[in-house]
Amino acid sequence: MTSVSAGTRPERIAALGFDYASQPKVRLERCNLCGESVFVGLTHRDRYGYPAEASGCTRCGLVFLDPVMTSEAYGKFYMGTYRPLVSAFHGRLIDARTIQQEQREYAVERGDLLAPYVVGQSYRTLLDIGGSTGVVADAFARRFNLRGTVIDPAPLETAQAQALGLETIEGLVEDVDLGSRRFDVVILCQTVDHLLDTAGTLARVRQLLSPGGLLFVDIVDFRAAYLRNWSVEGAIKIDHPYYLTEGTMVAYLVRAGFEVVRSDYAADHLHVSYVARPSTPQPTYLPSSDDVKRLWNELRYVQNAPSPRA
Ligand SMILES: [Zn+2]
Repeated sequence: MTSVSAGTRPERIAALGFDYASQPKVRLERCNLCGESVFVGLTHRDRYGYPAEASGCTRCGLVFLDPVMTSEAYGKFYMGTYRPLVSAFHGRLIDARTIQQEQREYAVERGDLLAPYVVGQSYRTLLDIGGSTGVVADAFARRFNLRGTVIDPAPLETAQAQALGLETIEGLVEDVDLGSRRFDVVILCQTVDHLLDTAGTLARVRQLLSPGGLLFVDIVDFRAAYLRNWSVEGAIKIDHPYYLTEGTMVAYLVRAGFEVVRSDYAADHLHVSYVARPSTPQPTYLPSSDDVKRLWNELRYVQNAPSPRA
């Protein structure tokens, strides 16, 4: 793809010919965060206009697509549809090449956040999960003098990471066999919202992290996404199976055995970053029921009250 088709946003998206309704999907039987199974349906279409249904877990407040495309369907989606779809949505070309400048700026900002926790430690290795073309891993590896490894399922993107001198592993972190290898710094940059099994991946990350190692992860804060658009549908997109909030992300980390040592609202007001260290897992930790109630109340308010910016 070298250009974005003309027309209105719905016309550009329609021109891609992606048939979301007919994609193979599965229903979630249990909440990926707390394991409960009482859900509330929240929305019936996403920001692209696809008939994507998002639900929330009434116990913990986790929001997710349900049904959700199978991992095989997502594999095909990322190969052929994802970047053209995002390009059609924004009306400008966004691909592995154009995102590199954005990623360089991102690497400087997030590197500043990590520096106090990395500099002066005897860290040697870095693993970037979902590291795409390796821009961020390369920047961190140089800045902090680490050996960088990138895991990503997209071969065209890992080829570029390899050209930067990074070790690359093609695949998903849940599937690849890394034997007894451990990494001192593990980063999940703008990746966690794309996972199909967040709890499983974080448990795997915990195993891959050296004792005393450091985890960096950031989320698109679901609350920020619907408040800035004053639209819940506007915050839902088929590329994100899960919609994390500060409450649910911290619960995921604590349950998996991480202690948050620093969090940060990004300059874009949309992302929230976490720096965390291994600690004892607290497998029953949950957001408070008051937090969950406030989330549903806020969602209903945004769905029905006039936008304060109108
Ligand atoms: Zn739950």
